[in-house]
Amino acid sequence: MKNLKTALLASVLVMIGNSAIADAKHPKIGFSIDDLRLERWSRDRDYFTAAAEQLGAKVYVQSADANEQRQISQIENLISRGVDVIVIVPLNATVLNNAVAEAKKAGVKVVSYDRLILNADIDAYISFDNKKVGEMQAEGVVKVQPKGNYFLLGGAPTDNNAKILREGQMEVLQPLIDKGDIKVVGQQWVKEWNPTEALSIVENALTANDNKIDGIVASNDATAGGAIQALSAQKLDGKVPISGQDADLAAIKRVVAGTQTMTVYKPLKLLASEAAKLSVQLARDETPAYNSKYDNGAKKVDSILLKPTPLTKDNINVLEEDGFYTKAQIAGQ
Ligand code: BGC
Repeated sequence: MKNLKTALLASVLVMIGNSAIADAKHPKIGFSIDDLRLERWSRDRDYFTAAAEQLGAKVYVQSADANEQRQISQIENLISRGVDVIVIVPLNATVLNNAVAEAKKAGVKVVSYDRLILNADIDAYISFDNKKVGEMQAEGVVKVQPKGNYFLLGGAPTDNNAKILREGQMEVLQPLIDKGDIKVVGQQWVKEWNPTEALSIVENALTANDNKIDGIVASNDATAGGAIQALSAQKLDGKVPISGQDADLAAIKRVVAGTQTMTVYKPLKLLASEAAKLSVQLARDETPAYNSKYDNGAKKVDSILLKPTPLTKDNINVLEEDGFYTKAQIAGQ
C-alpha cells in the first residue's frame, strides 16, 4: 500500500513536472486591445498572434472597443483563464492599477503595448519613440509652413502617448513660437482619437478664426482624416499642411493626393514580433533585451522603444519595400 502511494505520488510529480515544461514551451498569452475598430490595431493583433504562435505560445485576444470597464473585466477574465502573460493596449492609462495588481498577485506578467500604463507595477513596456513621432509631425508641417497660425489637434486625453506626442511637437514649435513666427490659435484633445470629434473641433476652429489657420499638427491619421474633411468643406484641403501617424491606407491615399502633408510609419510587424518575443521570454523567466527605461509613476519600467519613420509623397515607396502595402493597394480607389 505504502509502495502504491509512493508510486502514485511519484507519477503525479512527474505529471506536474511535465506540464510545467509544457507550459514553458507553450506559454499562454492574453492580448487585451483597446479598440479593434481602428485600422492599425487589427494589424497589431494579426502580427502579434502569428509571431507568438511561431514561438510556441497560444494567444487569447480581447477587444474592449473603447470601453474602460470592459477592458478591466476582460483582463480579469484572462487572469482566470490562467494565462502566463497579459499584453495590454490600455484605453485609459490611469485606471488599470488594480487589474494589474490582480494579475501580479496571480503570478501573471504584464506588458504595456504601444501605450504606457501609468502608476502600476507592470513588467515591461514596448512602443515606438513617441516623442520622436511628435517631433516628426511638427517638423513635417513646419517644413511646408514655417510661419502663421497653427492649430494643435491632440490625441485622446486618456492616452499617455497623446501627451508624449505633444511634448515632441512642442520641442519643435516652441522656439518658433518664441520667435513670433508661429502663433498657436487653438489646441484641443480628441476624445478616443475619434475622427468625427476631430471634424467638429476643426470646423469650430476654422469658424472661430475666419478660416485663418495655416497649419494643423494632428497627432494621428484618424484625427487628421476628420480634420481634412472640415478643411475640404471650406475648400482648404491641400492648402493647409497637416500631419498624422500610422500610415493608415486612407491617409496614404491622402498623402498621394496632396491633402495630407505627411504621416509617420511605424513598422507594426516589428513592434508586434518584438512584443511577442518579449512576452514569451517573460513567460519563460528569461531576460529580454531592453533598450531603455520609462518612468510610469510607480517605477522605472524596462522598455523597448523602436524607431519611427516620417513619410511624405517622396518616400512612400518605403511601404511597398517593407511589405506594408502593395502598389495596387496604394493606387486603388
Ligand atoms: C497610438 C497610435 C494610434 C492611436 C489611436 C496611439 O496610442 O500610438 O498609433 O493612432 O493610439 O488608436
